[in-house]
Amino acid sequence: MISSPESSGGSELRKTGIAACQGIAIGRAYIVDRRQLKVPKRQIDPDEVEGEIERFHRAIEASGRQLEKIKQKIEERERDHYAIITAHQLILRDDHVVAATIQHIESSLINAEWALRRSVEKIKSVFDAVEDDYFRERRSDVDFVGERVLRNLLGRDSKVTPPPDAIVIAHDLSPADTAVLYRAAVAGIATDVGGKTSHTAIIARGYSTPAVVGTEDLTNHVGRDDLVIVDGSAGVVIINPDPETVTEYRERSRLEIAAGIARLSRSAEPAVTQDGVSVELLANLDHLNEAGVAVSHGADGVGLCRTEYHFMASEELPTEDDHFNYAIQVMEAMGGRCVTFRTLDLGADKISEALVEPHDEANPALGLRSLRLCLTEPMQPIFRCQLRGLLRASSKGKMKVMFPMISGLEELRAAREFLADVQQELRTESIAFDEDLHVGMMIEMPSAALVADHLAKYVDFFSIGTNDLIQYTIAVDRMNELVSYLYAPLHPALLRLIQTVVEAGKTQGIPVSICGEMAGDPLVAPVLLGLGLRTLSMHAVAMPDVKEAICCATLKDVEELAARVLELESATEVRRAALEFASSRASHKERL
Ligand code: PEP
Ligand code: MG
Repeated sequence: MISSPESSGGSELRKTGIAACQGIAIGRAYIVDRRQLKVPKRQIDPDEVEGEIERFHRAIEASGRQLEKIKQKIEERERDHYAIITAHQLILRDDHVVAATIQHIESSLINAEWALRRSVEKIKSVFDAVEDDYFRERRSDVDFVGERVLRNLLGRDSKVTPPPDAIVIAHDLSPADTAVLYRAAVAGIATDVGGKTSHTAIIARGYSTPAVVGTEDLTNHVGRDDLVIVDGSAGVVIINPDPETVTEYRERSRLEIAAGIARLSRSAEPAVTQDGVSVELLANLDHLNEAGVAVSHGADGVGLCRTEYHFMASEELPTEDDHFNYAIQVMEAMGGRCVTFRTLDLGADKISEALVEPHDEANPALGLRSLRLCLTEPMQPIFRCQLRGLLRASSKGKMKVMFPMISGLEELRAAREFLADVQQELRTESIAFDEDLHVGMMIEMPSAALVADHLAKYVDFFSIGTNDLIQYTIAVDRMNELVSYLYAPLHPALLRLIQTVVEAGKTQGIPVSICGEMAGDPLVAPVLLGLGLRTLSMHAVAMPDVKEAICCATLKDVEELAARVLELESATEVRRAALEFASSRASHKERL
């Protein structure tokens, strides 16, 4: 039994934090405590000023060289990380650090360490005054740089060298530390501070390392070499767990690993029903580094590449080349399989300060977001940049492009006209792109689903985004846990909308796929097949289970199931029918 968080049963202590990256890690604590450095404070004589300034310059130079070395070790494709180290190099050269410290040495006649501490504290106090979590977190960047220079002044090593399989416990981690940590193959990470957007969380997810952040005072409770469990799925850290707890978590971890291996062993098998109907299984990608998992799990391609996440991490506007390079990297990482890039879907919960001016909206999910935002005048140059980058990449590999959040024909026309204008621009500039590029749209609103027959005439394919389609059909905020009980993928209204879209696609002769989370549910997949879908796009790890559900059914079975559920009156009844179907298939398989 897992006891309640923040409790201590026997000698073990549990701390809760924010689940930053799922998975279980068990290991010995390796403490990275950046706060241990003491700043020596000394008044100096006027004739020592020059020497202190010289010492300070040397420390800056040494820090610069160290950062450059770290950067060289990070491949440029680890973009988030690379950009952070570049930001640290900029801070290192900033006048608020360099000129201010020199001025403190000269005017207050104090040693370089003390002068540096003063300038760093001054910058941090400016960040403190900003009431924005993002900027508050950037305060730690100044700290990391200040500490590096301080260590160089003091001649102290700034390297962290955890043994493999260690659990790293830290108040906070610098991005430079994290590069070293992941290469050292640490098992897990837990920190006092940080939120979902903190660097530790961003980078931990990129490397699939179980992590819990924001535990507040974990470092006060963990000693060197303590046994620690990081449950990155529940956001719990257990310090000095009791033997029963270790046994329980070992078992859970073993099951997770075994399930993962079993899944991977089936990845090369095709998804074909017993009567020979092939189903295309595609991956949804949020980040480039998920492409490897997609390939190893047997993805036939990418049905949804969410482009916004990659650029949200940066504080700078992506250039046309950034979009181009990202697209090329994703296509290469997918080994030439076709990738469907969705244009920027920003706004609502996906806010990037660099890309979007935040709007004060009463209903952001119904507000200025996604394609509508991209078509506004201030966003048009950014959107144009993305389309130019994607179009250029289209001449280099197999790809498609699709627009999100289209409510009806007017918006689709506006998007297509914008794209046509960009294409014409490239032609005029003699820049190559794929003239036959397939352009599609997502169906995420009931309005679009209901006029899919009209929309189908103007696109090459549909991709049904059920995450939003459910939200807008049932009027249930997908982020709000208070109404999550109403969020029902198998609601009869949704099934009817999907059926309408599939029919429209058939009539017009364009392919229809589905890329919402429900496509990755093995219980739902037979219903979707029965409704006529032959392409499902999902998180790659869901693929093997979905494949199994497909492989043990026949087309006749799933069509009968779909016909039956379309007659049912409630989501509960549909779900029951889907469950019965799954268990009848399982017992059928056992009999074989
Ligand atoms: C969807 O709405 O189903 C979808 C795939 O898009 P997102 O989850 O990014 O909104
Ligand atoms: Mg959506």
